[in-house]
Amino acid sequence: MAKEVTPTRMEKIVSLCKRRGFIFQASEIYGGLNGFWDYGPLGVELKKNLKDFWWQRNVRERDDMEGMDGSIIMNRAVWKASGHEETFSDPMVDCLLSKERFRADQVEEQTGIVHRLIGAIPRIAIFDLPQLPPEAWIRWLFPTALGSVSNVAELSELLHAGIRNQNQTCDEEVLLAAAEKIFPQIERYDFSVLVPTGTPEDKARKVGMAFYESRGVKNPVLIEHEVSHLPVENSRGYHAETGAQLTEPRTFNLMFKSFAGPIESEENMVYLRPETAQAMFVQFRNILDTTRQKLPFGIAQIGKAFRNEINPRNFTFRSREFEQMEIEYFCRPEDGLRLTDYWLEQRLRFYDDIGIPRGKIHIHEIPDGERAFYAVKTYDLEYDFPFGLSELEGIAYRTNYDLSKHIEHSGKPLDYFDEATKERFVPHVVEPSAGTDRTALALICEAFDEETLTDEAGKSDVRTVLRFHPRMAPIKCGVFPLLKNKPDLVAAAREVASNLRAFMNIFYDESGAIGRRYRRQDEAGTPFCVTVDFDTIGENGPEKQGTVTLRHRDSMQQERIAISDLREWLLARIR
Ligand code: ATP
Repeated sequence: MAKEVTPTRMEKIVSLCKRRGFIFQASEIYGGLNGFWDYGPLGVELKKNLKDFWWQRNVRERDDMEGMDGSIIMNRAVWKASGHEETFSDPMVDCLLSKERFRADQVEEQTGIVHRLIGAIPRIAIFDLPQLPPEAWIRWLFPTALGSVSNVAELSELLHAGIRNQNQTCDEEVLLAAAEKIFPQIERYDFSVLVPTGTPEDKARKVGMAFYESRGVKNPVLIEHEVSHLPVENSRGYHAETGAQLTEPRTFNLMFKSFAGPIESEENMVYLRPETAQAMFVQFRNILDTTRQKLPFGIAQIGKAFRNEINPRNFTFRSREFEQMEIEYFCRPEDGLRLTDYWLEQRLRFYDDIGIPRGKIHIHEIPDGERAFYAVKTYDLEYDFPFGLSELEGIAYRTNYDLSKHIEHSGKPLDYFDEATKERFVPHVVEPSAGTDRTALALICEAFDEETLTDEAGKSDVRTVLRFHPRMAPIKCGVFPLLKNKPDLVAAAREVASNLRAFMNIFYDESGAIGRRYRRQDEAGTPFCVTVDFDTIGENGPEKQGTVTLRHRDSMQQERIAISDLREWLLARIR
């Protein structure tokens, strides 16, 4: 779906994330590593709040769910059985010029004229080496060609007569004719450039020269194909940026490989898991036996997954290392469809409860023919990121495909005996699979706001604020003494902070003007701040003693609250 793209908003978000310590480029001081990110002090709290709440909702608050934490590296047989070794791949294409690699289905379509080249000859061959005998010329130009040249004399004649004219310039026509005639193998340099409609044609020559130069041909004289200008429409065969030809799609397995043990042999080869799900299938029997659950019941897991994505992009949205929060909910076959809709509703509620209202989630039901072949029903939940509507979570009714595959490959009984009906069968499964990093990014995008404030003097400025749901906010409450050079205020504020710390993440700050301290917490998404002032310590009489100013992030309203009530007041809002 075409959506308005607002890069400036995304750029602001990325810069805020770095500035305030949510997300940094991994290995930044060494230039980073594409597709990898580090979460800083605020980011880790946000992500932890998200994971804890997911766990709370999906595991602790339910008696039909069990948690587990599987290892990242498993027996390779797991990935053979699941089909990942064979099929977990994307078709990819390479730009012949820039060598960048793209997913074939993500290449932008283009319309224009395709310029076809069949080769190139270094210009120096003609200008700087005129005295060389043709054999040497040929050997230098095409080391492998000598044996197949049929008419050296003809080349010699052409070289001396036609190619070098009196002005010492190259007669390209003659050169090309000679080259094509004498070196049919020049075909191995086939290369095309698409010049989009409305772009100067000269681009083709520049790109062609850059391409042959990249192959070691110095100052290339281009040789065009007989039919060199072909109009094309909506082609995915060319790189949108350079116009250079892309390779044919080739499959590329997305699983990272490593070796378990000291010998780097085929038998010791292992994969870093590309999803957490498989551990839950592989441990199905153990969990069933140790918990005595009855269908329907689920297994839940949160953990890292790794995919060697061809184009990591959109900040953390598509990374090579990420976290998933996955559920495998096992059921009787006749309940599968109903439970898929049940989980859709549960998941929408969850997003609502963390501050992403259901109206902001687009439910995309995957049509027949586009689902995985074993899936009967699949919903993608998409969020409207500043870079467009993109998947947050997939909810798939996968029938009994996964357990059946593991039964087939392991020979172990992963079936279920229903005491009530005395039936034995392989349970079906509904899988709600969410990305932690994508949800954290959606939380940040949803929370990000810039508000123009105008003071009494008519001066306006922009307040950057992250309007996180208090449940998700990395810091729940900022605690400030009004002035840092008043020991009584500082001591009282420190005490307020330390009494709250056991219950929530607190940020104590005494530096700078109070207004600036509030603004810094606005940017961090802290929903509440309390300030200890002279009233608190009783300097203005007993009436307000023991109370603090409580300031709300969103409305910026302030109220007085007794220190003794503060903890309960905050807990009621952040849980
Ligand atoms: P996509 O189509 O975006 O590649 P997918 O459909 O392959 O995603 P699943 O295999 O269904 O994704 O994985 C479940 C969830 O894991 C996704 O909904 C997403 O939230 C998360 N996820 C998958 N790949 C990545 C990634 N490269 N970076 C971050 N999160 C990811």
